[in-house]
Amino acid sequence: MKIGFIGLGNMGGPMAANLAKAGHEVQGFDLAAPSPEGVHSAASAAEAASGAEVVITMLPNGAILRAVADQIIPAMKASAVLCDCSTVDVESARAVADQAVAAGLGALDAPVSGGVGGASAGTLTFMVGGSEEAFAKVRPLFEVMGQKAVHCGAAGAGQAAKICNNMILGATMAVTCEAFALADKLGLDRARMFDVVSTSSGYSWSMNAYCPAPGVGPQSPADNDYKPGFAADLMLKDLRLSQQAAEAVDADTPMGARATALYAAFVEQEDGKGRDFSALLPRFVGRGRG
Ligand code: NAD
Repeated sequence: MKIGFIGLGNMGGPMAANLAKAGHEVQGFDLAAPSPEGVHSAASAAEAASGAEVVITMLPNGAILRAVADQIIPAMKASAVLCDCSTVDVESARAVADQAVAAGLGALDAPVSGGVGGASAGTLTFMVGGSEEAFAKVRPLFEVMGQKAVHCGAAGAGQAAKICNNMILGATMAVTCEAFALADKLGLDRARMFDVVSTSSGYSWSMNAYCPAPGVGPQSPADNDYKPGFAADLMLKDLRLSQQAAEAVDADTPMGARATALYAAFVEQEDGKGRDFSALLPRFVGRGRG
């Protein structure tokens, strides 16, 4: 398939490389990052998009996505599909989809979970919003870049699934970290705490698969001095998107709001920037209630 790929950063670079490796003809464009092996460099976003059957974008935020969409939609060939894999606000996802559909194109919002490791290994999970027809057309590409693609509903449903998932993740990681810090102060051994909780009703992905305590449970960023992994800054971005969406539809999300405030303080006022999102544990250990 002829594919345009715009945004070749930490995630987009390896995703585009995997498509090229699978035999697709990929034209890439990025303002700064170089094209990975096998991906042809286009001179502009519009050039990367022209003639492609599917154009994939992997960009930092909704404002940049909207700007790039303005450049590429007029350049895309009739009935091609614009598939945005970035994590952006639901409103931008829906606006770009409307614009593409009005121009006679297909459109999908298809944010991912799985991080840079999943992008390189081709094991991402895609959460997809948009028409059945567009989903069917891009599905073979999701199968190259990932291990699972869930069609969640109409435009915006992929972003909605992503931010709800990550709101759960942020709040769950925060309470898992504070529970370990409380256990320390109560004299409870961390390995015993893991043994109990990971097989009891407090279990979760944060505890069982990504344990924030070094030397306990499976290998995780905690065992590598909290190098990301999934950076606290990215968790903050997703939590803020969840609160923006909650505000837009008048949803009450007090745990999400608390997790957002906590990660904002950690990243913007403390030492959380550039650290893994599970580094809340040493933060809690160093503090008391006041
Ligand atoms: P990144 O900053 O490494 O890559 C974004 C790329 O977009 C950069 O190379 C940048 O030069 C390029 N870019 C910016 N404006 C552009 C423009 N106008 N035209 C062309 N290229 C432009 O970020 P990333 O880590 O690859 O993340 C991309 C998206 O994926 C984000 O929305 C992020 O939230 C989401 N995401 C990231 C992860 C992760 O672990 N890194 C996990 C899941 C989802």
